[in-house]
Amino acid sequence: MSSHYLQALDRQHLIHPVTNFHGHEKRGATILASGKGSWLRDNDGNELLDAFSGLWCVNTGYGVESIVRAATEQMQRLPYATGYFSFGSEPAIRLAARLVELAPASLERVYFTQGGSDAVDAAIRYIAYYYNALGKPSKKHFIALERGYHGSSSTGAGLTGLPVFHRNFDLPKENQHHIASPYPYRNPAGQDDTAIIAASVQALRDKVAELGADNVAAFFCEPIQGSGGVIVPPVGWLKAMREACRSLDILFAVDEVITGFGRTGPMFACEAEQVDPDLMTVAKGLTAGYSPMGALLMSEAIYQAIADAAGPDLAVGHGQTYSAHPVSAAVGLEVLRLYTEGGLLANGVAQTPHFTRGLQELLSHPLVGDARSRGLVGALELVADKDSKRRFDPALRLPDRISEAAYRNGLVFRAFGDSILGFAPALCYTADEFGLLFERLKATLDQVL
Ligand code: PLP
Repeated sequence: MSSHYLQALDRQHLIHPVTNFHGHEKRGATILASGKGSWLRDNDGNELLDAFSGLWCVNTGYGVESIVRAATEQMQRLPYATGYFSFGSEPAIRLAARLVELAPASLERVYFTQGGSDAVDAAIRYIAYYYNALGKPSKKHFIALERGYHGSSSTGAGLTGLPVFHRNFDLPKENQHHIASPYPYRNPAGQDDTAIIAASVQALRDKVAELGADNVAAFFCEPIQGSGGVIVPPVGWLKAMREACRSLDILFAVDEVITGFGRTGPMFACEAEQVDPDLMTVAKGLTAGYSPMGALLMSEAIYQAIADAAGPDLAVGHGQTYSAHPVSAAVGLEVLRLYTEGGLLANGVAQTPHFTRGLQELLSHPLVGDARSRGLVGALELVADKDSKRRFDPALRLPDRISEAAYRNGLVFRAFGDSILGFAPALCYTADEFGLLFERLKATLDQVL
């Protein structure tokens, strides 16, 4: 079908989340048709280098035959088996066991979801159940970070600390609270690592004191804040927040929806600092975007408290038709095999210096105020003035103009609202592809200067 016709249909019927609806109607959709490795092809035959792994998820690259085979074979054998009640399927059971093997040692039980938002949602509900089980029903308040993103479900969105996800929705979120993001580039505590970590720990302590420790259930955070602009906290921050939660007697829930599955180097970002969360949410790289799936992992202690409270007869009333979907589970098993035995994680680590260097070299560009990354997730923050770190006037629509210019140069990444350009190349990137990425990115920045 012609792009023109598809765009007309799209304008009439398809809602595109997180766009300005009128702006989208004017611009029209970019229609993607196929992909291979790190490359996409649009409906008009243009080849595009994907520097964002779709939406931080296609960590394996596109068109991997063995994943397609795993899905096809499972679809032929058994396309659906409920995870509800006492039914199960081999791929779902094996995937749960494999995830536990790979995850931090504190996590032993897995609840499968369709993506990240409902994994966060499930975490909130199970935590509430857990504290009721412990006879501490007042512990129902949750703390997260400003600029954090934890999805768009009606409860999980409350933890999301980005104003656009709340404006005009106006849903109650009185038990959800935020503390300042560590944000090294713009932290009032300065750019010293120790001071940034101390400020976050103190902010958490202050918030818990304000709410009363008897009322606080958990602290949620991403090891690197992705959708908030790829905010990379100093090494040691995650561990310090984990320890603070322990001493404050609140649960530590880590959201590795973006950072999981090799995105920052190790399988999970928690690994790098030997952090043992009480709960962890994952999605995206779990199935590399080939099929929707997320998961909530929890400690044995949380699981057992819930089980004991329900007793021998009462069902724990949380579930979804597509929980533990066998096709997604079969995909997940193959994707995990590719990360480990297939060498993808190792390739990601080996290629990371090309990514880090490319971003750092762009610090000398007149538009770039900050370049930050860990593993294969990074960002450039554009400023109107490097000394004062003054932001560009939003009326200039700089991120939109940059995305459009990049597209014309055959490059796709994500431009965030306030002049931040985000990158999350696939773990299969080659040195030549990194060379092309930065060549095209520099040309794009020069064009909009
Ligand atoms: N948590 C984090 C850290 C995310 O980045 C996202 C999505 O980008 C979510 C949760 C929500 O996941 P999903 O879009 O699969 O619902």
